[in-house]
Amino acid sequence: MPTRDGGGVPTPQPIAATVLVTFLCVASPGCAEIALLPPDKSVLDLHVHTAGIGAGGSGCFISRGLRGGHKFGWYLGAFGTSLKELEREGDAVILSHISARVADSASVSKAVVLAMDGVVDAAGELDREHTQLYVPNEFLAREVRRFPNLLFGASVNPYRRDALQRLEQVKQDGAVLVKWIPAIMHIDPADPALTPFYAKLKELDLPLLVHVGQERSFGPARDELGDPARLELALEAGVTVIAAHIATTGRNEGEDNFKRILPLFGKYPNLYTEISSLTQINKMGYLYKALRYPGLPDRMLFGTDWPLQFFPLVSPWYQMGRVPLRRLSQLGKLDNQWDRDVALKRAMGVPDAVFDRTWEVLKIPRE
Ligand SMILES: [Zn+2]
Repeated sequence: MPTRDGGGVPTPQPIAATVLVTFLCVASPGCAEIALLPPDKSVLDLHVHTAGIGAGGSGCFISRGLRGGHKFGWYLGAFGTSLKELEREGDAVILSHISARVADSASVSKAVVLAMDGVVDAAGELDREHTQLYVPNEFLAREVRRFPNLLFGASVNPYRRDALQRLEQVKQDGAVLVKWIPAIMHIDPADPALTPFYAKLKELDLPLLVHVGQERSFGPARDELGDPARLELALEAGVTVIAAHIATTGRNEGEDNFKRILPLFGKYPNLYTEISSLTQINKMGYLYKALRYPGLPDRMLFGTDWPLQFFPLVSPWYQMGRVPLRRLSQLGKLDNQWDRDVALKRAMGVPDAVFDRTWEVLKIPRE
């Protein structure tokens, strides 16, 4: 019987499989494992999405292309909402769902929710026609203030006419980082014209969380802009760069993006990465590889990429053969998506230092 996580997308409960693996595990010495969750509610999630249709005067929008596509319905369900609810309550209702679920988590105490700037035209203004998803900073900064367990992750397209002013503003409004998805926002991180933007990020001490690797959560994507080699300009400028998802999936110049990012860690001490989305079915095996790569776990931070936590995209059962069976069965029973993600990654071998480091790098005091 499917269960629901707070009104989200049904998660499968393979009952027969659970009984079988629990039985098999009773006799298996490999089942004596680390605790399922950290001992206290001590985890910061730096990668949580929200979205909106403009309800309640949010200023958010979703392109006609995305709204008409098959992903739209999935996403509404994954966000734990419906069109009706958004229209009735306003887009900020998603933030109240996030806040409630994080409050409910036994492991995660705070989450950084991400704004999403759009494509910018030649005049330096928002190009609504080519923007697929827009979550304005003003809306998010204002709304997260109502929730003590949510933090503001800003998004500023550096091609905006007033990009530097916008950076000053988001910093003033409490932003803890700036997020880009270059393939969707049409940003070339290697463009020398971005040098003043990088200098401003450094001056304001704002880390740049940037999607690298292929992008498949939206419609058309310019994947060449997700090439990790394009991060060097920001790194040379001394910006703290957090390369999302360890650049897993996709290729550039005939080479895996994952392979292309690895040498950069040795070259730049200001380069970090984060492990959101690495339990997805299309990213199988990468996290294990990354955990074995010398020095790389010391640069890892924690994020969930919520709401991309639904079946069949993610399931603990995809780790069968790598995670002890009893642990998989325990994971399958965790209802809270944040706890499930933390527990699954711990079971996959992510050390506790990764969770601790997330607070340190974002300079967020723990309570
Ligand atoms: Zn994401």
